[in-house]
Amino acid sequence: MVTWLADGGFRIGELCGLHLVDLHLRENAACGQCRSPHVHVCHRPGNPNRADAKTKHPWRVEAGTVTGGLIKRVSPAMVHSYFDYITGEYPRGGAGHGMLLVQLYGSGRGRPWAPVAARRMLARAGRRTGLGLVKPHCFRHSFASAVLDAADGNLVIARDAGGWASTSVVDEIYAHVDVHDPAFDAALRTVWGENR
Ligand SMILES: [Zn+2]
Repeated sequence: MVTWLADGGFRIGELCGLHLVDLHLRENAACGQCRSPHVHVCHRPGNPNRADAKTKHPWRVEAGTVTGGLIKRVSPAMVHSYFDYITGEYPRGGAGHGMLLVQLYGSGRGRPWAPVAARRMLARAGRRTGLGLVKPHCFRHSFASAVLDAADGNLVIARDAGGWASTSVVDEIYAHVDVHDPAFDAALRTVWGENR
C-alpha cells in the first residue's frame, strides 16, 4: 500500500477501489491506451468496500479488457510489490469479488479492504514507528511536490500524473516555490537591497 501510494499518488478511495482487471502491468497491454505498465482508475459506485474513485472518467469493459477511466502509470517498484502480494499474500480462490486489496487476516480474510481500514492501518504503523499521524493523503502531497520539482514546476505534467481535474488545483495546493530556488533567492536579495 505504501509503495503504491508513494509512487502512484493515488487517493485512498482510488487505490482501494481497484479491481484486478484494472491493472495492465505488462508492456503494450491489450487496451492500447498506454504502452507502459499502468492502471485504469474506474468510477464504480457499487464497490462492496465502498471505495469510490473521485474521478468519473468514462470507462468500459470490452471482451474482458478495461479501457478508459483515469490512466495512471505504474512504477517498477509498484509492479514488484504487486507480484509479491499476489503470489505471497493474496488469498487463493477467496476473491470472487475481483478486487485488488483484501483483508489478509481475521474472519474477514479475503474480503475487499475498506478505505477506513487502510487509513487505520497506516495510522497504527505511523504511531509504532514514531512518525506521528500518517494519512494516505500525505503520500499524494509528497508525490505531487516531487513531480512538480522533477518537472521544473510544469503544472500540466503534475496535473496528469496525479489525475487532478485542473492545473489550478495543483497550483493552489502544491505549487509552492522552492525557497532556495535561484530566482526566488535573487528576488529576495533584490528586495533586501543586497543585489547592488
Ligand atoms: Zn490499459
